[in-house]
Amino acid sequence: MKKILVANRGEIAVRILRTIRKMGLKSVAVFSEADRNAPHVLFADEAVCLGPAASSESYLNIEKIIGFAVSLGVDAIHPGYGFLSENAVFAKRVNDAGMIFIGPGPGAIASMGSKLAAKEAVKKYGIPMVPGTDKAVNDLDEATRLASTIGYPILIKASAGGGGKGMRIVHSADECRSQIERAISEAQSAFGDGSVFMEKYISSPRHIEVQVLADHHGNMVHLFERECSIQRRHQKVIEESPSAIVTPELRKQMGEAALMVARSCGYTSTGTVEFLVDENRKFYFLEMNTRLQVEHPVTEMITGLDLVEEQIRIARGEKLRFKQDDLAIKGHSIELRVYAEDPANDFLPSIGKLNRYTRPAMPGVRVDDGYEEGMTIPVYYDPLLAKLVVYGDDRTDAIAKMKEAIRQFRIDGVSTTLPFGSFVMENHAFAEGDFDTHFVKKHFDTDAWNAGREQKARLAGIIALRFYLDQLKKTVAVTHSSDNWRMRVRD
Ligand code: ADP
Repeated sequence: MKKILVANRGEIAVRILRTIRKMGLKSVAVFSEADRNAPHVLFADEAVCLGPAASSESYLNIEKIIGFAVSLGVDAIHPGYGFLSENAVFAKRVNDAGMIFIGPGPGAIASMGSKLAAKEAVKKYGIPMVPGTDKAVNDLDEATRLASTIGYPILIKASAGGGGKGMRIVHSADECRSQIERAISEAQSAFGDGSVFMEKYISSPRHIEVQVLADHHGNMVHLFERECSIQRRHQKVIEESPSAIVTPELRKQMGEAALMVARSCGYTSTGTVEFLVDENRKFYFLEMNTRLQVEHPVTEMITGLDLVEEQIRIARGEKLRFKQDDLAIKGHSIELRVYAEDPANDFLPSIGKLNRYTRPAMPGVRVDDGYEEGMTIPVYYDPLLAKLVVYGDDRTDAIAKMKEAIRQFRIDGVSTTLPFGSFVMENHAFAEGDFDTHFVKKHFDTDAWNAGREQKARLAGIIALRFYLDQLKKTVAVTHSSDNWRMRVRD
């Protein structure tokens, strides 16, 4: 394998290109017209334009990507996350064109890509699952009956859903039928697949996932857990490893369950098995993500491994270089996703130009990003600007480092999740490890937060005015003095 094409953009394209360069391999970047001057384009050895900004005409255009790859003599394609990374048709097309897809086989992607097929695949392995239906809901009367057996509240989920989309909570039998009907039509229009199913709504869950790594020789290890419970709109904002609540015993159980899930679909490459953990520390299989996760850096920090390098080694047929017993957790890592979003306004996207963009620079801090000062954030793609990752000796140290790194990270021109990150790091419940996926709803009161920020801004204004008046007084005093030197000494 000599030349790899990275079929992605933004921070993840840059991050993958770095490892390709480190391994002494050649790289090809692809870009849309909106990304002509983006860092990932400049970082690669070669770059080709896929077409207009819209993803469907660029980063999702399978034929164009494969056509360019073949004509440029590419040996393998890394899909990153999002876009085509979990598209079994793409993985197969890459293989059929004589190249290597850096990821699992198309069969594993297809079976884990559908939440229902995934449940079916893992069923016989005795892995705990959230109580619910294991088939698509068609008959509304039967569904209402089943919902009462499961017990309200229930969650209706789209089998093809992802990114926190396609979920509806049903609180009582009266709204069950109408909610299912709505969920089916939404799933059909959003994902082109109207299959929905029901799960018990776990009232106080934590989202804890396990990173797995599997080669083509039957070797498999897990790289411990990541806790991703700090979410908005069912999507992660802050992740950490290890979790504050996972004991060595629970880690072992969850790790073994994750490996079983991976085995159930003949998994190879890096993958993530997601679980919900309830207030009694019971865990339930949620789904498997068949790609490199956004939050993979926290695992890299505590294991010292480069997951992209491992993916590439596996893809070129190498055996894993370590066994489970060789691996251990060292230190603690936290990641903040720095989105161009306004936390004070329901985390809505905040578009604009990066008038100022200064990264923090201190030991134990890693910034994965794909932007530079002066760039405008394109409206066409995910508004993730950067991932701010810290590494500390322990959780307290990592929290302290994150506070300082956020303070140093200066972004002007758009609102970002940086101040939300500070809020979480300062929060008592977070520091104690006492939180669940409802952290934002429970603790993040935007009115109080806005008022606090206004108060701080007012105080800063008063201090600045005072300083200015003092300076003015001194200048006046000095100007009117016949003995400048003595006046200055007295000051
Ligand atoms: P997606 O594929 O859209 O990311 P997931 O099934 O991974 O969907 O769930 C995303 C998030 O939704 C979880 O991290 C959790 O916060 C919430 N969630 C999912 N299933 C349940 C459930 N049964 N009970 C409570 N919360 C859930």
